Parts: sequence; C-alpha cells; structure tokens
Amino acid sequence: MKKFILLIISFILLIPYISFGATQNGTYLNVKIGNNINISENISLSADNGFYLYDKNSKREITYIENNHLIAKGNQNGIIEIYDQSYNYITEISGDGSVILGSGNTRDSIVQVDQNKYRDYITFLVRNNEILLLNHIELDNYLYGVLPREIPASSPIEALKAQAIASRSYTMANINKHINEGYNLCDKVHCQVYGAYDNENPATNQAVDETKGTYAYYDGKIIDATFHSTSGGYTEDSSNVWGNSVPYLVAVEDEFSANTPNSNWTVEITARELKDKLLSSGVDIGDIIEIQLLDITEANRVQKLKIKGTKGEHILSSSNFRNLVGASFLKSTWFNVSTTGASSNTKVYALSGDSTVPREMNLDDAYILNDANKSTVSRDIVSRAIGKDRTSSLDGKSSSKPTTFVFNGKGYGHGVGMSQYGAIEMAKQGYNYEDIIKHYYKDVELINEN
Ligand SMILES: [Zn+2]
Repeated sequence: MKKFILLIISFILLIPYISFGATQNGTYLNVKIGNNINISENISLSADNGFYLYDKNSKREITYIENNHLIAKGNQNGIIEIYDQSYNYITEISGDGSVILGSGNTRDSIVQVDQNKYRDYITFLVRNNEILLLNHIELDNYLYGVLPREIPASSPIEALKAQAIASRSYTMANINKHINEGYNLCDKVHCQVYGAYDNENPATNQAVDETKGTYAYYDGKIIDATFHSTSGGYTEDSSNVWGNSVPYLVAVEDEFSANTPNSNWTVEITARELKDKLLSSGVDIGDIIEIQLLDITEANRVQKLKIKGTKGEHILSSSNFRNLVGASFLKSTWFNVSTTGASSNTKVYALSGDSTVPREMNLDDAYILNDANKSTVSRDIVSRAIGKDRTSSLDGKSSSKPTTFVFNGKGYGHGVGMSQYGAIEMAKQGYNYEDIIKHYYKDVELINEN
C-alpha cells in the first residue's frame, strides 16, 4: 500500500514535467543500439529478478514479469510480443517506444540484450518490418558507456574529467541529431561511440561522477563540444571544416599535441590505387598524374585539392578526399603531398628557334604532340612538345606519370575543439580539467547545474 501511495505521489509530481514535453525530461536519452533487426528475428532479454514494464514518460510501473529470460519478437502490426523461453506468450508492448523494459532490480537496472548488457531501460521502435532497439538511459549512465570508448581509460584523471564534460556538453547540444528517426543519438562515431555496461571502467566512471552536472557554456548555451584524437600542433576553425562559424570553436596553437601518437605520419598511395578509388566513386579522369593542393587554411589544413589525370581533372574538398582514400588512412587534412617513382618533377627545357639558351618549359603551357604530330592532352609519354607561342619545342621522350603519392601529415581527426591526446599531455603537465576545457574551447565557462 505504501508503495502504491508513493507511486501516485511521484506520478502527480511528474505531471508538470510531462506537459512540457521531451526536453524537460532531458536527463534521459534514447540511444539506438546496434543495427536494425528484422521483425522475424528473436531478441533475447535477460535480467536478474525478472522485469518491470514502465510507461516511458512517467516511469510509472505497468506490470511485473517474474521470468529472468524473455524473448521479444515483432509482429506485422508493429507490436512487440513477449514470450518466455518455451515460447509461451506473456504479453505484448507497443512498437512506438512508449513502454520501456527494466530489470526487476529497481536500483541499478541492468538488462542484457543478446550478449550485451545495458543500464536502465530497453525499448523498441518498429519501422518498415524492422525493429530499432533503443537504450532509454539516464545521461551520466550513458556517459559511463561512452568515455572508455572515446579516450583511453588509463589517461590521467584530469584528462578524463575534461572528456566527461566535453562528452556531456556534446550530448546535450546534439540531443536532436536523430530526432526525425525517433531517437536522440546513435551508438556509433557519428554521434559518440557508446560501449554500454560491459565497456565501463572504474576510472572513467569516476571522471563522470566527479563532474556530475557540469557543462561547458558559451553565451548562455551548452556548447557543441566537438573533439578529436590529436590536433598535431594546431586546432582548426569550425568554419573551415563544417562551414559554420562558431565563436568557441576557433583554431588555437596547441603545443601539447605536437608530440603525441599520430602527431606526425606518412602514408603512400599508388597512382593506380587512386585511379581505382576514383573510378569506384564514378570519376574517370584516366591515369593520375598530379595532386595539387588548392586552399590551405591559416591552421595549415588543406581545404580543397585538384587531381589531374590523363583524361581530365577532378576538384574535391579535402574531407571528401579523406573519405575517398579512407579517413583512418589519411588521418587528417593537414598534409602535403609529393611523388616518387616518376619524372613529374623533372624540368623540361626547350630551345626556341632564335636562341641557343634553353628555357624552362611548363608542360601545361605546351601542346603535346604525338608521333603523328597530332595534339593530345596525354602527358603520359611525350614524344614532342611545342610551346603555345610556337617558338619553342621539345623533342624526345618524357614520362610525367608518377607511380606513388606520398602524404606527410600531422594530427588525427577533424581538428576542431578538444584534442584528446593534447588533453592527456596537459594533464601530465599538471593542468586541471578546467584549464584543458578553456584551452580548447575559447571563452567558455563551466557551470555546475547540481
Ligand atoms: Zn548518430
């Protein structure tokens, strides 16, 4: 009876929050976990001490199921049917995410879905014969599962605390990222990597606990606290990466990241591999001759580049180029490029008809003639070139096709906001989490909402 009265009271207390809508209920998130599941597949659920079903918004208890192992399965009407392990029907719940399922332990509810354990609650969205599995979870419980996947748990505690504040602020600033799909955040790098209960670590949990309720603010709003692995020595301005100018996401000199893992790297790609990657993305410019870096930002990063081929050229943004060749291969857009294995850097000299002094000729300013004296754009094998003013010419053979492009670069990631390895280095040098946050996010303040 006492419990019943308590439930009634808590329900009444929650009513004003419910009427404000989801944002007032903001300490709970719906995080999509894993990939979509076909409606005909069985989902295995386990918990100690059975399960409770609750109304999502009020957290009001609907029913108790004493089984420790359940099977959930969708039906064609978009309903989730719940069975026991012997396929005896127990109950059904709506496929709109309005009913949540928690363990029979009201403190520290842990629900196991197939092989993975989740804190708080599980719920289901049925869409087009697929089930989206959601973890309905309190903000800091979510952060417990994020931190160890986003930063090494062995990092100094002040770096972990800076990461906790960055991740907490980022989460709230991006809470509507997937709202049109019916949930708040995904569990992938697109939002933040969420490893859930099994990936938790005492050190990262401590960092979450010791910063509880603390957010970074700018101008009265929680900041979009983006972060990356390492800046390589200089962070980047948001406008150069995403096209939006954000006053606290500006480029800062970052000596703390100058000597970190991946602060300097070299990778190579052959002209052939690059040609194939372009072809598979639908771009055919023939054999690759040259890569030109077009715009370089003040923070040293390449904005745009031009790839020249025997059949044409292709201009693309450096982030699209990173995606083309692989973002873990080309670790950042801070790089220069050189070539090996060919004579593309060989200077070509020609004699004009009225001079005995050779002059340097840029092949771009020349007509390239093949053996039949026909003009061709191919600079592959040059038998003869003639200046566009027709006064100079070159005979002989020259290959201008490189075999390999070599990229020397700095940093890992987009470079905007906090450098995680920079944060670790700052902590090692004795800076605290507030120093770290304020170094990477310009003119922000930390506010504790507890
Ligand atoms: Zn996402």
